[in-house]
Amino acid sequence: MSPDQQDLRLASTRLTTQPSATMAASSTRTEHFPTIRGVKWPNMISIVVTHILAIYGALYVTPKRNTAILAVVLYFISTLGITAGSHRLWSHRSFKASAPLRLFLVLAGGSAVQGSAYWWAKVHRSHHRYIDTDKDPYSAQRGFLFTHVGWIVFYTDVAPGGGVDLSDLHKDKILMWQHNNRALVWLLCGYILPVVIPGYFWGDWAGGLFYSTALRLTACYHSVWCINSLAHMLGEAPFDDKHTPRDHLFTALVTMGEGYHNFHHQFPMDYRNAFRWYQYDPTKWFIAACGALGLASNLRKFPSNEVNKGIFTMRAKELRATQDSLQWPTPVEKLPIVTWENFQEESKKRTLLLVSGFIHDVTNFLEEHPGGDRLLTAHTGKDVTAKFFGGVYDHSHAAHNLLSMMRVGILQGGVETLGEHAVPPSQKYYVSVHEDAE
Ligand SMILES: [Zn+2]
Ligand SMILES: [Zn+2]
Repeated sequence: MSPDQQDLRLASTRLTTQPSATMAASSTRTEHFPTIRGVKWPNMISIVVTHILAIYGALYVTPKRNTAILAVVLYFISTLGITAGSHRLWSHRSFKASAPLRLFLVLAGGSAVQGSAYWWAKVHRSHHRYIDTDKDPYSAQRGFLFTHVGWIVFYTDVAPGGGVDLSDLHKDKILMWQHNNRALVWLLCGYILPVVIPGYFWGDWAGGLFYSTALRLTACYHSVWCINSLAHMLGEAPFDDKHTPRDHLFTALVTMGEGYHNFHHQFPMDYRNAFRWYQYDPTKWFIAACGALGLASNLRKFPSNEVNKGIFTMRAKELRATQDSLQWPTPVEKLPIVTWENFQEESKKRTLLLVSGFIHDVTNFLEEHPGGDRLLTAHTGKDVTAKFFGGVYDHSHAAHNLLSMMRVGILQGGVETLGEHAVPPSQKYYVSVHEDAE
């Protein structure tokens, strides 16, 4: 084996340990809600009961002020436990967290009662690896209902793919402690404490049950579910449009900043989802604050140069689409080569002007010429290059662009060879596309 071959083998081996778009692309796509094969009853019951209690509480129970505040604070804590912990820390390793921070995150995430952080990260790594295919546990191809909650409460005939590396997660003792004791954590942090705190300290047991528990949990469910549903459907693709993730402020507002999902899927190891300072991403702010306090370190950022390349590519694609929607001059290779004699002969029948070696038929433009038609008819059969570019009037770029649309031929051995003015101004920035472009 030559050194080159060895390098290639190393490169491909390393690549297979990373989420692979090529592998994902080879899978099939179910583009509808898949056939239901069973109900995940514990999930279904806890979700339905929580929703019923939340709706009943919102309609018939008025919480004490302290309980309402606690419910909001707990909503932020529970959701952060998922977004900063299960997602950005354990799914993507976008920063390093100290033991106290990891302990906070497993308790906060546990209070959201949405699986263990280990399970969440495992499923989410699969989502990134197999995005939009049948191996993606919540492929956006299967519609809003499936990605929002269907995959959580139903077994279906589409089995998600495994094959994601979880060895780093197994080494995290705090994470595995939460996974092994998840029922206890959910019960204590998700249900008991949010009821007991307002009940014991300010006598609002009902507010504790209906607001800081049921309503807070319901809001938190939908916030996190929107990362899988709405964030793959609503908004723009400023960085890449190969897959479904999209950026939208509304999604960001309801998901603690996870709504810049197009950015996230392109640069998943970045601790930010919103890379611009003014975009709403409280999870990023929380991680940065933990970094400033010494609780988090190695906050990863994807190189801005590469981020900007994504932006550039998408803008170039847009420009190309606009370019394709416009009409352009007849390409040089499709224009007939005309002799001087023919040019002279033809110019007696119609108004033909020679500019920069191109013969233009301006007959239909005579009425519209701002400088009057006589200037044109008087020069039929003549080279007016110098006059067009300043001799009589230094025409605008727009005029040059318009003139180039009237090209009907190229003069053989032209009075002026193709050169300085051969390319109209608008075509100097023509967007070219590589033959492999999709
Ligand atoms: Zn996603
Ligand atoms: Zn992710």
